[in-house]
Amino acid sequence: MSSAIVIGAGFGGLALAIRLQSAGIATTIVEARDKPGGRAYVWNDQGHVFDAGPTVVTDPDSLRELWALSGQPMERDVTLLPVSPFYRLTWADGRSFEYVNDDDELIRQVASFNPADVDGYRRFHDYAEEVYREGYLKLGTTPFLKLGQMLNAAPALMRLQAYRSVHSMVARFIQDPHLRQAFSFHTLLVGGNPFSTSSIYALIHALERRGGVWFAKGGTNQLVAGMVALFERLGGTLLLNARVTRIDTEGDRATGVTLLDGRQLRADTVASNGDVMHSYRDLLGHTRRGRTKAAILNRQRWSMSLFVLHFGLSKRPENLAHHSVIFGPRYKGLVNEIFNGPRLPDDFSMYLHSPCVTDPSLAPEGMSTHYVLAPVPHLGRADVDWEAEAPGYAERIFEELERRAIPDLRKHLTVSRIFSPADFSTELSAHHGSAFSVEPILTQSAWFRPHNRDRAIPNFYIVGAGTHPGAGIPGVVGSAKATAQVMLSDLAVA
Ligand SMILES: Cc1cc2nc3c(=O)[nH]c(=O)nc-3n(C[C@H](O)[C@H](O)[C@H](O)COP(=O)(O)OP(=O)(O)OC[C@H]3O[C@@H](n4cnc5c(N)ncnc54)[C@H](O)[C@@H]3O)c2cc1C
Repeated sequence: MSSAIVIGAGFGGLALAIRLQSAGIATTIVEARDKPGGRAYVWNDQGHVFDAGPTVVTDPDSLRELWALSGQPMERDVTLLPVSPFYRLTWADGRSFEYVNDDDELIRQVASFNPADVDGYRRFHDYAEEVYREGYLKLGTTPFLKLGQMLNAAPALMRLQAYRSVHSMVARFIQDPHLRQAFSFHTLLVGGNPFSTSSIYALIHALERRGGVWFAKGGTNQLVAGMVALFERLGGTLLLNARVTRIDTEGDRATGVTLLDGRQLRADTVASNGDVMHSYRDLLGHTRRGRTKAAILNRQRWSMSLFVLHFGLSKRPENLAHHSVIFGPRYKGLVNEIFNGPRLPDDFSMYLHSPCVTDPSLAPEGMSTHYVLAPVPHLGRADVDWEAEAPGYAERIFEELERRAIPDLRKHLTVSRIFSPADFSTELSAHHGSAFSVEPILTQSAWFRPHNRDRAIPNFYIVGAGTHPGAGIPGVVGSAKATAQVMLSDLAVA
């Protein structure tokens, strides 16, 4: 029986391990932290369930596929609840937009901002559908290992004007500045700047409209727990508190891993779900390949970081949506500073997560659980001393939330915790504390992104946000499909 080691139990690592184990490969996941999930870690505090990261679950079929590999229903382990509206968007001038999946209602709202944009929205939607078919269904799970594959995709990418940014494409169809934000902000959810991320990412709009927006009952941690349950039922092994310090090699082959406690595990093949820079620079730093690839990665653009503020309230605020996007006074200028620095901007746009709207079980009776996040520059763009900065920044965010969403927030505050760019760096070994790995711009996508299989160490693979197609749950679960395809085919001929 062939064997595999997967470093890291993020969504990508778990999905890959399920695919390998389902195909009969004896798979061991080695996870540095005490719980699985990676960016989808969880804290339980005073009866509140604080999911660390992803909250918007899209393309549930890509998850269902993992269970279907062994003929099981996902519902055995996970219940997905529909979320509506998908998002509530609010602006500093007091206007708001309910981003719903009901076509008539969506059109009514577009018309209320600008009747002339109704036709433009319909054309944008058609465009999003087309890039969804070309960019997601056809290319989303293709492992781009050869330049030829990129050249094959080039005519479609040119036809879809993938060289334009999402915002410029939205602006071609839609005039109203609020609506331009409403249909372009999604790239931020996967670490992309709407003004420089390829218009292919407009596919997120179609992805949401087609497959809906969902929330796992009990929180995203329950989706993670369900994946772990499936993996272990299939016979896979998950080792927690097992930090890999080195990927062992002999010649150009990976032979296994060495853990911080000195244990050595051997396998026929090794995949890393850890940060891609960490994997090459730290875990393969003893090889020439590791050092060369780390130098290349160092020259790439890395995605922004996030300041995440979790909090519990002694009440359940009324009239909140599950997902709220609270835009600040600036859009392009702010996004530019977030992606390029050189310092922490004075203003911010925020995403507020209020899961008790969909599932009250995430807080004690009558109370509520939330997190608010603000995109901020990564540590390479703005070298902020987060230990000193974080408490004051959190207060400013609470103040703004009181003005814009929850008037008496601090009066009812019972518990809070901060996860800053410094934590992304130390807790997740994320390069520059980036929340989404390598930035998803066209010249760092598909074949130009770190490959699913390494070029020089042919039994070493990457899975997760740092490889094709990129960040976000559907992205990393798609990367697992692409990587598994290559690994299984390599193991079959080995
Ligand atoms: C706050 C936040 C909100 C988000 N919201 C959404 C959302 O709503 N919807 C959505 O689709 N996406 C969202 N995302 C993006 C999404 O969460 C990520 O892109 C995705 O979860 C990353 O998964 P991954 O497979 O790349 O692994 P990661 O989650 O990065 O996990 C990697 C794992 O590898 C482990 N590891 C690293 N190094 C080692 C080592 N040396 N030894 C052993 N283990 C190691 C880490 O501990 C970690 O557990 C959000 C991200 C963040 C940060």
